[in-house]
Amino acid sequence: MRLTCLGTGSPESHPGRASSGYLLEVAGQRLLLDCGGGVVSRLIEAGLRPADIDQVFFSHLHSDHMMDFARLVHAHWDEGGQSDGRHLQVTGPAPIATITQRLVGAQGAFAFDLTARCELQGSKDVWVARGGQLPRPWPQPQIYEVEPGFILEGQGWRLTSCTVPHAQPHLICMAFRFDDSAGRSLVYSGDAALCPELEALAEGADLLLHWCYRHDEEAAPDFIRRMSPTPSEIGAMAKRIGVKHLALTHFRAAVDETEGLLQRMQSAGQAAFAGPVTMASDLLALDI
Ligand SMILES: [Zn+2]
Repeated sequence: MRLTCLGTGSPESHPGRASSGYLLEVAGQRLLLDCGGGVVSRLIEAGLRPADIDQVFFSHLHSDHMMDFARLVHAHWDEGGQSDGRHLQVTGPAPIATITQRLVGAQGAFAFDLTARCELQGSKDVWVARGGQLPRPWPQPQIYEVEPGFILEGQGWRLTSCTVPHAQPHLICMAFRFDDSAGRSLVYSGDAALCPELEALAEGADLLLHWCYRHDEEAAPDFIRRMSPTPSEIGAMAKRIGVKHLALTHFRAAVDETEGLLQRMQSAGQAAFAGPVTMASDLLALDI
């Protein structure tokens, strides 16, 4: 398994970090975990194209985890991802089906564009020149709405999941665990408060990729303190459940703008955790 961090930032505009998104290559397949703003550009910088993605999994539907979804679906379609009957597989919580309809459905935001691309003679000529056939079908991503706790048996990997406290009751939020046939494992927390469900899911994981919105030096309102664990709190949890490698991500702009803060956050996590603590950055690849 190989994890490439495509977006390690937050919703804030940041010159060096896209919003959340991670490429997981496992058993010859390319899975995308979340698709926040800037993630598709990072995917291209990593040497892949949207049409190379087989499946997308959404931890939750905050904008910083799905802002590039429309671009991904459109480019996957326009660049031949649907040829040979292959369709982009999309798995996430409700209302991902409604969102997809409202983007690329018959009455969706992109319906005008899609009609033009399918009907205009010049567009049809370009499509045929690329090897496509007429009439040109619309994007048909395959949408699977799931609830936390769902299990998916992939080809050479297994996905398990759990609920995590974050933006309920407005959004369903979950964490994912991928185990491959070689016995290697990745857990992606999504955005998560500390909770027994995530501790059970992540027990013994080879890599725990955990969001880290807050640092140990800052005062924060009570809600944010409860919902946003610090590096030392995450490190202590990872130690408690026997994680082998901890990677922190989802950093705010201030983390990079404050002299030495990222390093101090790493040190705080490291002081609580015996294994390696990696501070994720865009395009960082980790072999698992
Ligand atoms: Zn987020």
